[in-house]
Amino acid sequence: MKRKDKILVLRIAGLSDGVHEYTVTVAPKAIGLSESFRQPFDVNIVLEKTRRQFVLHVTSLASGWFPCDRCLDETEVRVEVDFWLVFMTTGDQHAISSDDEDNKEVVLLPPNTHEIDIAEDVRQFIELAVPLRKICGEDNEGHPLCKSKVWEKWVGEPETADTRWDALKKLKL
Ligand SMILES: [Zn+2]
Repeated sequence: MKRKDKILVLRIAGLSDGVHEYTVTVAPKAIGLSESFRQPFDVNIVLEKTRRQFVLHVTSLASGWFPCDRCLDETEVRVEVDFWLVFMTTGDQHAISSDDEDNKEVVLLPPNTHEIDIAEDVRQFIELAVPLRKICGEDNEGHPLCKSKVWEKWVGEPETADTRWDALKKLKL
């Protein structure tokens, strides 16, 4: 997806060594998120620069709206991401092997790179962080918070002999 907006683009040319923090308010559409995401949300970035290496710790909390698995009503699902990105300008590749943070992906940048665009990374991590199970929520006793009448019938009349619901009950959604 092509984007015109330079959202989540960090300028690294001339950046001093050390820790730099950013908070960027992102419109979901601007980074290509699905239409389930409607509200702008903040992306927090802590960038630590050492020589040619840029270590980014990215955290964000976005809200998506999805049909509830139980009642099909649309419900808000909080999607939290917390990930690291490591960029390194070329010419310093020997340093990669000494990086013991093996779950960090290292992206090599050509020399004289002026900026890092992390919009696509943020989009992918958010889409991947959407939970498979999406429900309206549960109270302390595990009762669903669905407002739908379908669910009221299911919960409110557990002793009825309506066997049509038995299969559903076993699913433990
Ligand atoms: Zn529901």
